[in-house]
Amino acid sequence: MIEENLKKIREKLPKETKLVVVSKYHTIDEIMQAYGAGCRDFGENKIQDMTQKWEELPKDIRWHMIGHTQTNKVKYMAPYVHMIQSVDSLKLACEIDKQARKNNRVIDCLLQVHVAVEETKFGFEKQELLQLLKEEKLQELKSIKIRGIMGMATNTMDKKQIEREFKCLREIYEQIKDMNIEGFEIDTLSMGMSSDYEIAIECGSNLVRVGSAVFQ
Ligand SMILES: *Cc1c(COP(=O)(O)O)cnc(C)c1O
Repeated sequence: MIEENLKKIREKLPKETKLVVVSKYHTIDEIMQAYGAGCRDFGENKIQDMTQKWEELPKDIRWHMIGHTQTNKVKYMAPYVHMIQSVDSLKLACEIDKQARKNNRVIDCLLQVHVAVEETKFGFEKQELLQLLKEEKLQELKSIKIRGIMGMATNTMDKKQIEREFKCLREIYEQIKDMNIEGFEIDTLSMGMSSDYEIAIECGSNLVRVGSAVFQ
C-alpha cells in the first residue's frame, strides 16, 4: 500500500523535486515500509517524537523538523537533525546556532514564511523577513546555513487561492536568492503537502512534504 502510494506520488514529481515523507502520527513499522521503498528524508513536527524515531530507526535517515519549535527543546535535536524547516523567529535561529556550535555542526535551516489566511499558521510575514535580512541579524549566525524558505497555503478547496499563495512564496524565494547574501546557500523552496503538492510543483516548489497521501 505505502509502496504503491509512493510510486504514484513519485511519478508526479519532477526529477529535481525532493520528497520529504511526513511521518508524524505514523509508526516505526510504517516508516520502515517507506524506508524499504527507498525514502530517506522524513519530517516530524514534534522534537520528542522525532528523537524517539531517530533512536530506533536506521541512521542514514535524514530528519526534517517541520513544526513550530520551542527554543528550550532545540538541544534535543541539534546532534542529529538534518534540516529545520520551521525557523519562524530570530530567537529560534539564535538558539539553533548556539546548539549547532555546541555539537560542532552547521545545521541547514529554512525560514518559515506565512502567506496563508489562517492566523494559526506560524512564520515570518514577508516584510518582517525582508527587514530582518536587511538588518543582517541572521547573517551573523555562522553555525546555521539558510537554504531557503518553507510555507503552507491556506487549507481551502479554492485552487486559485492556493496558487496565488504559492506564487507569493516563490517570489519571496527568488527575492532572497537574488540578494546573494553571504553565508546563505539558497536552493530550497519547500511547499506542497498531500492536498496541494501538484499545484506547488507547478509554482516552482523543489521540496514537497507529503504525509497522508503516503500512509493512507
Ligand atoms: C503535517 C504536515 C505536512 C503533511 O501534511 P499531509 O497533508 O499529511 O501531507 C506538511 N507540512 C507540514 C508543516 C505539516 O505539519
